[in-house]
Amino acid sequence: MKVENLIIGAGISGITVAHKIATELNQKVLIIDSKNHIGGNCFDYYNKAGICVHQYGTHIFHTNDKQVWDFLSQFTKWYPYIHKVKALIDGQETPIPFNLTSIRQHFPPATADRLEKKLMEKFGYNVKVPILELRKTNDEDLTFLADFVYEKVFLHYTLKQWGMRPEDLDPSVTGRVPVYVSKDDRYFQDTYQAIPMQGYTKMFEKMLKHPNIKLKLNTKFQDIKNKITYDRLFVTSPIDQFFDYEFSKLPYRSLKFDFVTLDMPYFQSNSVINYPNNYDYTRIGEYKYFLNDQSKKTTISFEYPVPYKEGENEPYYPIIKEENQALYNKYLSKAKTLKNTYFLGRLGDYKYYDMDKAVKRALEVFQGIKDVA
Ligand code: UDP
Repeated sequence: MKVENLIIGAGISGITVAHKIATELNQKVLIIDSKNHIGGNCFDYYNKAGICVHQYGTHIFHTNDKQVWDFLSQFTKWYPYIHKVKALIDGQETPIPFNLTSIRQHFPPATADRLEKKLMEKFGYNVKVPILELRKTNDEDLTFLADFVYEKVFLHYTLKQWGMRPEDLDPSVTGRVPVYVSKDDRYFQDTYQAIPMQGYTKMFEKMLKHPNIKLKLNTKFQDIKNKITYDRLFVTSPIDQFFDYEFSKLPYRSLKFDFVTLDMPYFQSNSVINYPNNYDYTRIGEYKYFLNDQSKKTTISFEYPVPYKEGENEPYYPIIKEENQALYNKYLSKAKTLKNTYFLGRLGDYKYYDMDKAVKRALEVFQGIKDVA
């Protein structure tokens, strides 16, 4: 069999490229996925209780990139959902990122006044300070605050999430959730924050609906590669697997979810509550909040980080640290020697992309092709 374009993986990256090639180059695309559904780890579905559940954990779309926003807006209307996260710290639901409101909640007024003043003097107002940066200050009060936040918010959550201490990961990982010198309680500050009105899967279905696009689910590249030829290949599956682990395996982190539907209107006060210091799970997600689904029941998920085991669970996250980056770079060098083969997505690029960054990257890969086509 011969196809013009073969795309491995029908997740957000592969689907974006498929749509662009089909519509703008008017070429045929075959997109395959080993799973039995599209959308990769962004897949969602309505359950019997009428709640849109994210099968691979809570996904909240947010971006500052108008090009990405406008691109996806062709395929969905958006429910304007602004994400907030609370963490249970010392028995109190506390705004995360830890901010000036969180400080007031946890310390007596005189202490909070002093910490607030010192933070504003040192960093300014409306400034995000990664916890590993805050720990470097030599002011006694700020060190006290840094130790508190490190211990209560980051250390035990990160040990559960990654099996590692915060300082053993690339600073960008914990830097995603800084300490925020602000009273802004939102998890993200991006201009555009929303959930597709009918869910992510419906949006992806629209992106794939084109006579030039053929989709094959339950299909592994390994199983078809000797039966198929192509002009271009797009790899959104793990780059190390593509090269048969020639330089050894790249580490990934996986998750296990326990979904429960309860006969009550709401379980918790917020869509996501983190448990840095209690229980073995990192967080509980409650899905009806995202699209304000009206149901007498509610569906929640307990999220347990687990090691990735090929064939047993899904790779969710690349593990961003220096030695893994070095190993990835070996694969990248090899990837660059291949003609008409493009790597993208969290697993193809071994990067901790958010959804908008994955789309951006896919649009850029496509543009590179279009410019020479
Ligand atoms: N993090 C933490 N405590 C929290 C929230 C986040 O220690 O309450 C750290 C943890 O290492 C986590 C990282 O910050 O993996 C990034 O968090 P984010 O919420 O961005 O992770 P994601 O939603 O992508 O799993």
